[in-house]
Amino acid sequence: IFTAVNVPQAPEDPLFGLMAAYRKDPSDKKVDLGIGAYRDDNAKPWILPVVRKADDILKNDPELNHEYLPIAGLPQYTSAAQKLILGADSPAIKDNRVASFQTISGTGAVHLGALFLAKFHPHQQPRPTVYLSDPTWANHNQIFTNVGLSIAKYPYFSRETKGLDIEGMVSALNNAPAGSIIVLHACAHNPTGVDPSPDQWKRIAEVVRAKNHFPFFDCAYQGFASGDLARDAWAIRYFVEQGFETCIAQSFAKNFGLYGERAGAYHFVSPPNQPDNSIQHIASQLAILQRSEISNPPAYGSRIASIILNDPKLFSEWEEDLRTMSGRIAEMRKGLRSRLEARQTPGSWEHITSQIGMFSFTGLSEKQVQILREKWHIYMVTPLSPP
Ligand code: PMP
Repeated sequence: IFTAVNVPQAPEDPLFGLMAAYRKDPSDKKVDLGIGAYRDDNAKPWILPVVRKADDILKNDPELNHEYLPIAGLPQYTSAAQKLILGADSPAIKDNRVASFQTISGTGAVHLGALFLAKFHPHQQPRPTVYLSDPTWANHNQIFTNVGLSIAKYPYFSRETKGLDIEGMVSALNNAPAGSIIVLHACAHNPTGVDPSPDQWKRIAEVVRAKNHFPFFDCAYQGFASGDLARDAWAIRYFVEQGFETCIAQSFAKNFGLYGERAGAYHFVSPPNQPDNSIQHIASQLAILQRSEISNPPAYGSRIASIILNDPKLFSEWEEDLRTMSGRIAEMRKGLRSRLEARQTPGSWEHITSQIGMFSFTGLSEKQVQILREKWHIYMVTPLSPP
């Protein structure tokens, strides 16, 4: 029987614990800086105007019903998602080397990829290790360990420069056992907001190639980071152009504001010049994993995204909405930095504006974060227990 002794109490998810504390706080001045969700000038969730339009189109579609989607998801959605991340003229799409599955947002995509690698990674003895950036999105740790893979860290964030520790990262990847799985944030690294430059990505690609590692991209912020969809996909497209075998977990939670609708996709990209049917074999195995986990993905979010991605006019309206969100985030960063500097707050605050996306490693200590919460009702995660 299952008892309190053989089923230990699990720790509360730090981020969702913080949200609960925020909700309980009766202060009318309270501010929630914990969860990674975009807010407008009134601190309210923002429904993208283009998403409202797509919603109206959906509502008025007389053909719409509640049937199951195919196991791999809505075909016009996955093919548009593929083009969005890899580029419409990607050599991998042209050569038919991509297997794409609609997933339960980005989390489900990381999970599907983890499950597939745990089962089919060619290095089964010994098992490959998954290298995660230090720090990373906390959920990476449990998603990969839950499928039986072991995890290790590579240095990423330099506390001195509050920027990328490229030397530490390259040397750790160089010292990792050949054939390891390397999880890379495609853009707007969570939680540091620090991304490699194109030249640094090239160095990362070199060591991944030299050690025959498997690059696993997690892309939760395309277009949301810089406002430019192609720029935020640069690293992934570079690796694909270089002929890497890779996979991508893609989330539409942030860039469409479809958080709770769970729209995402998983793409496996085979390298060039493989036997023709390799990608079909991979797709067939992914279909079995998907079937046993979720049977078929949820319809609503993918229908919304698909309407927008497949209509040039709505697509350009979406790009406008992306610029609104990324522009506001950049403004908030500027505002925070200039106010800290105007008050002559000790230390350098340059990193607040050089970091990108919705997360920032402020450099505040645990104690300072605690004071912000207790005295000023500002709720943010403590350093090193990021969202
Ligand atoms: N990966 C990273 C790095 C993230 O920051 C997030 C969102 N916090 C996700 C994946 C997945 O989020 P979702 O499942 O909501 O798409």
